[in-house]
Amino acid sequence: MADIGPQNGLLRSLAPQDLAILGPHLQRVPLRLGAVLYEMDAPARWVYFPEAGLLSLITVMVSGDAIETSVVGREGAVGFIEALGSEVMSSRVIVQVPGAAFRADARRYRDAFDSSAALRRAVHMRTELLQAESRQAIACHSLHGIEARFNRWLLECHDLAGAPALLSLTQEFLAVMLGASRPSVSVIANAAQERGWIRYTRGSIEILDLEALERAACECRASVQRLRCRLEPDSPLARATPSSRARNA
Ligand SMILES: [Zn+2]
Repeated sequence: MADIGPQNGLLRSLAPQDLAILGPHLQRVPLRLGAVLYEMDAPARWVYFPEAGLLSLITVMVSGDAIETSVVGREGAVGFIEALGSEVMSSRVIVQVPGAAFRADARRYRDAFDSSAALRRAVHMRTELLQAESRQAIACHSLHGIEARFNRWLLECHDLAGAPALLSLTQEFLAVMLGASRPSVSVIANAAQERGWIRYTRGSIEILDLEALERAACECRASVQRLRCRLEPDSPLARATPSSRARNA
């Protein structure tokens, strides 16, 4: 096992003796921008634990239309639920922000899950958070305007990816993320740039005014943040957005 350190939240939550069960079966792999880790309905052979970067979970319709349904960063994992159940992925998973991850063979992960009560509890907490985030995302898509959702999503990426200087995002991907047309996304991104909130060039977004984005984002970021504080109080993300917490205290 390579030096895991504190870089992945789910692994970091395990005591050394529990991490030692899974640790020998973890290998570090790069997360390259745009790489497809899983297609929908693919066998869940690996469980990924990002330590840097961002993974996007995308639901693809029969027509080919696609929308992002979840984002996973350094505090979470991908395939950790499916590997324990159907062993089939229900989302396409692509690398949205490059970085690195540990991955474990699904069989080894299941063995560790059976052996470690702490891992079972960590998986349960992460599953509960994921379910709550999904419910929030459904409400957000239905009730909140595209501009507020754009701002919220940028802030989420900023938090989950560990505040990178640049988020590599093509307009095509931004459209998938928001479930909107490319022209609509272009208008919103240009407006945010004209206000001085972001710099958007050649498929990369740099956040310039975090507080302005927070004021203009919908309430869903703060709602998810409160869930994180409850379920994963030791996570750095639970302390990531003081202005949001103060506003909703
Ligand atoms: Zn919302």
